Amino acid sequence: MLGKMTLPVHQSRPRLMRRRTPPTLPVTARSISLFRLGEACNNHCPMCSNSGRPEAWLTPQDELLKRVDWLAAQGMKRVVVTGGEPTSHPAFWSVVKRLGERGLVWDINSNGRTFAQIGFADRAVDEGLQRAIISLHSHIPEVSQEISGVTAKGHGEIIAGIDALVGAGVPVMLNLVLTTLNHRHLRDYLNWTVARWGHEIELKVCFPTTVGRGGGWPGIELRYADVQDEVRAFVEDCEAINLTWHLESFPPCAIDDPRARNMSRSGFGETHYLDDLTGDRLYPIAHIEAELGCYAETCRTCQAFGTCPGVSEAYARRWGTEEFKPFR
Ligand code: SF4
Repeated sequence: MLGKMTLPVHQSRPRLMRRRTPPTLPVTARSISLFRLGEACNNHCPMCSNSGRPEAWLTPQDELLKRVDWLAAQGMKRVVVTGGEPTSHPAFWSVVKRLGERGLVWDINSNGRTFAQIGFADRAVDEGLQRAIISLHSHIPEVSQEISGVTAKGHGEIIAGIDALVGAGVPVMLNLVLTTLNHRHLRDYLNWTVARWGHEIELKVCFPTTVGRGGGWPGIELRYADVQDEVRAFVEDCEAINLTWHLESFPPCAIDDPRARNMSRSGFGETHYLDDLTGDRLYPIAHIEAELGCYAETCRTCQAFGTCPGVSEAYARRWGTEEFKPFR
């Protein structure tokens, strides 16, 4: 179990190991690909995990339609449409229409704001939308506004967008990235969301990544030890009311629970990632995760090693690996 707030910044280079996974994975009827329309977004999250590469900002419509055809030709049957904010892409409706024409169903990873527009959620369902992950980082308007880089109107749109999706019968998973501003409110967040949307909603709590263009934001300067108590209490509360919870980028030892369900970065079980620059290469998500994650040498003996995502190399280099305690 992690010691609470006692870990020094790591001075020497810790010895790290990586998981080896195959660099290719066949497409099957059960495969799901992440499909990015571009990094353009109408939120301004200071912790944004996107790359910030100008060439990745807004993939042109013709190219996106070509990619849908290519995915269908590979045998892909399902994608998770993502961004940036995919609904703000001018080609959004053309892309989802083409997905339907090629026999692909789709889920979405969104900030939810566009769904506040009258009729948008219903039209998306008509065009094949199956599930939605919506980022709501706090139920407290001022905190949500700061973490998502939106105004009070923007926060209101997020809430109204989730209302509309739930009203349209779309299964919704809320995504909360832990920061120094919201981790103490987790239990209140749970109670607030259940009071508003009931027990059907699923909740996902993510440990922040420092890899993207917002990686230097002080609000995500967290250690697992900083959030352990709140996350454990959150999990216990969810289980007490039978609400489905998920964690992302949490080694099980970070909450001292070897059974911890960890979605890593593939929130809807994506198996593949479509190269968002070339559009003609599929990478196994497991391989990408293995490239990004690392482990302490002692992890070899841990009973949770098989399902553990490890931690980012940046985290291990900064804080060391002493806090990771193998389950025996
Ligand atoms: S494998 Fe390592 S990081 Fe993962 S739960 Fe076990 S001790 Fe923790």
